[in-house]
Amino acid sequence: MKLLMHTCCAPCSVYCIDTLRKEGIEPTLFWYNPNIHPYSEYVARRDCLKAYSEKVNVKAIFIDEYGFDAFCKNTINNISSRCVNYCYPLRLEATFKYAKENGYDTVTTTLLYSIYQNHEFIKKECERLSEKYGIDFLYRDFRVGYYVGHQKAYEEGLYLQKYCGCIFSEEDALLKHENNKPKISSDYKFLPVEKSIVIKKNRENPEQYIKLLLEADPSERLVRDYLKEGELFTLYYKNDLACIAVVIKLDEEIVELKNLVTVEKYRGQGLAKKMIKYLFDNYKTAYKKMIVGTSENNIPFYVKQGFDKYEKTIKNFFIDNYEEEIWDENLQCIDMYYYSKDFN
Ligand code: SF4
Repeated sequence: MKLLMHTCCAPCSVYCIDTLRKEGIEPTLFWYNPNIHPYSEYVARRDCLKAYSEKVNVKAIFIDEYGFDAFCKNTINNISSRCVNYCYPLRLEATFKYAKENGYDTVTTTLLYSIYQNHEFIKKECERLSEKYGIDFLYRDFRVGYYVGHQKAYEEGLYLQKYCGCIFSEEDALLKHENNKPKISSDYKFLPVEKSIVIKKNRENPEQYIKLLLEADPSERLVRDYLKEGELFTLYYKNDLACIAVVIKLDEEIVELKNLVTVEKYRGQGLAKKMIKYLFDNYKTAYKKMIVGTSENNIPFYVKQGFDKYEKTIKNFFIDNYEEEIWDENLQCIDMYYYSKDFN
């Protein structure tokens, strides 16, 4: 079988690729989604799929056409029927046509994965196009793995979009319209999800984490001080402690991330990034901002995670507060730089 799979985005492709590969089928991904709005969102989804397809070594074809103008002109007179009247048929027809012209004998789509899509219509439309182009349609109800795929996409650190794609779906999601509800019956049986990453606030015996916290901050006195007043968070990867963080309250509006450390064997896997995202989610409703103090070497990391506003520098902090010189790779830590994440 030479399978072309219309692919709407990386997160939706995860479970579909895994399932097909388990069946011994190697799909070629076909990106054609000109309806995504705005263009920055289109680029984010496209580039995420490019990176993920390279990572999992699956062939991917990108038809890089951005069609906001055409989408609006073709849907504006009947916005509520836009999916079935224009969006599904446009994308699916392009996939069957490409398959026909390029030697693929079978087509499927990741649209069959989403519980938010009109599954029965997509199935029927694919059957119609299969007849029209003389190309087989591979039907799978990928929805059973919706939560399994979602969990893996999250753990892979993929860009997880908040709405289906077009400008109208963005409005549906933001204003929590009825159209944004899952289109699936409540007794549908999904495959169970096994979470390999669990993050939680940990109140049990903080002493046991001191050795690890000292890897990020070698002053036992300082670590013990902020551990006493702070909140400790642990991230377990497959039941193994992989990352910890300590956050203290500075005042009614500001919290500070005082320590963040990943166990050596888990470094470079994006776990600290997940921890920071969790901390933002945890504090954003009750506080206005989170700050972090860092040595020069780690500024790019924190800025990339969202601490994008420079606050202040404390000159000679690492000289004045530590008995021994501190080196981070080949750079001596001297000044402390503060950056913040604004929750507004
Ligand atoms: S809601 Fe989704 S499927 Fe429907 S028109 Fe918008 S992007 Fe297409």
